Amino acid sequence: PAPISTGIVVIIVGLGIAGLTAAIECHRKGHSVIGFEKKPDPYQFGDLICLSGNSVGVLAQWDNGSVMGFLKDNRSYLHSIEAYDEAGDLKDKTPVNPDDATQGFVLRRSGLLKGLYQYAQKLGLDLRFGVQVEEYWETEGNAGVIVGKIRIGADCVIASDGVHSRARGIITGEDPAPQETGGAIFRSHFDAHLIADNPEARWILEGTAEKDRFEGYFGKNVAVMVGTLGKGQHVFWSCPHKDVKGVSEAWAQVADVNPVLEYIKDWPTGQKLAAIISKTPRGNCFNHLLLSRDPLNSWVSKGGRMIVIGDAAHPFLPHTGQGANQSIEDAAVVAICLELAGRDRIPLALRVTEKLRHKRVSVIQRGSIEVQKNDHKANWDSSNTEDRPSTAARPTWVFSHDCAKHAYEEFNIVANAITNGQDYIETNVPADGIFRRVDDYHNTTRGSN
Ligand code: FAD
Repeated sequence: PAPISTGIVVIIVGLGIAGLTAAIECHRKGHSVIGFEKKPDPYQFGDLICLSGNSVGVLAQWDNGSVMGFLKDNRSYLHSIEAYDEAGDLKDKTPVNPDDATQGFVLRRSGLLKGLYQYAQKLGLDLRFGVQVEEYWETEGNAGVIVGKIRIGADCVIASDGVHSRARGIITGEDPAPQETGGAIFRSHFDAHLIADNPEARWILEGTAEKDRFEGYFGKNVAVMVGTLGKGQHVFWSCPHKDVKGVSEAWAQVADVNPVLEYIKDWPTGQKLAAIISKTPRGNCFNHLLLSRDPLNSWVSKGGRMIVIGDAAHPFLPHTGQGANQSIEDAAVVAICLELAGRDRIPLALRVTEKLRHKRVSVIQRGSIEVQKNDHKANWDSSNTEDRPSTAARPTWVFSHDCAKHAYEEFNIVANAITNGQDYIETNVPADGIFRRVDDYHNTTRGSN
């Protein structure tokens, strides 16, 4: 059945993972949606994306599970994620149940976008591709955008225009410069038939008719992740490294694989990894800088009718695999807050959204930088698990969080705190605000999560 209308009209700018999810979630909660995307279609470049239980919980509610079914059909069918040192000694093995989506899974970024877009289309949402938003405006009773000199109004604007967001500066008054983390990453994926007959490279395809592989090899300052997707149909590899000279932030910088082969040439496992990497077709390897940005002070405009979400609000390093997942949480939470606040309290809805989301993503943002540092150190002998490299940082407070349940439970508490100018103690982050890969998560003063 069609959702009961709240009468709230929402403009969404940018239809990547955050924007498409926001459009769908807003529609499901009864809001009318107008979405703008400057690209002509929803299909974007990008290799792998990891969906974890916290976002799977949102997507699994859609269309009686059919969207999740589509995404699962496009996943890497993993039974474990393995971490090795550069000598090839197995150091860590995280079991994964491929049939339990709540444990998370890896899929192609383009497959995720396709799944989201197909569902948005099925719902008949008003999504306008090939339309660039030029300006934003806000009055006491409305907010909106300017497109081709035309002013389009709504009750609020959700800006999900990505890491290079223009909305960020306009809406929040802040646009912190990206900071170098001292790291960069090569990424690639290609059709498995390119190595299927190669005796030195085809080891990665062994056994993949039944289960895919995901292996990380960690040396000092360089790691290589390698694996398969679609039960051995595709091969992917990536190489986080510290050789940042001459590399910029842009995702699609076509790169030569030779530097990667050079980094690993003295590794005992170097040859077997090089056998795969050297078969990468020209044009299929990319290298880009890993930059971070400090958390913003606020996500909401002065008038309270515009908010940034997704990468526009909080770009992440890939080391915690949460870029897409936290964007999906943002989208679900803003739709719920609008539903609970109602059309008369839009600014309150967006301010509650910010309170529910800001600290959580800021802890993960900072945590990604720590995970990156520890991966670079490759300190396998450390007695502290937090210091060791990781292919699978999966703290329960991140992975098992039910953001929708939490938003419904906390909305009134946060709304009262904002209205009365009181402090709000977040209950969806560790009490000490520290990101740990392996956590024993106990909540702050108000019971457990
Ligand atoms: P984005 O995905 O960047 O989407 C923002 C959208 O806004 C874009 O489609 C853009 O065209 C649109 N837009 C911008 N300005 C305007 C405007 N003025 N008017 C209209 N539209 C506008 N993460 C991984 O874990 N693995 C990956 O392989 C991976 N690949 C990526 C590849 C690319 C090219 C990018 C940009 C990101 C990638 N990420 C990847 C990161 C991950 O996808 C994001 O963290 C997550 O999807 C949240 O992104 P978003 O929707 O907030 O922003």
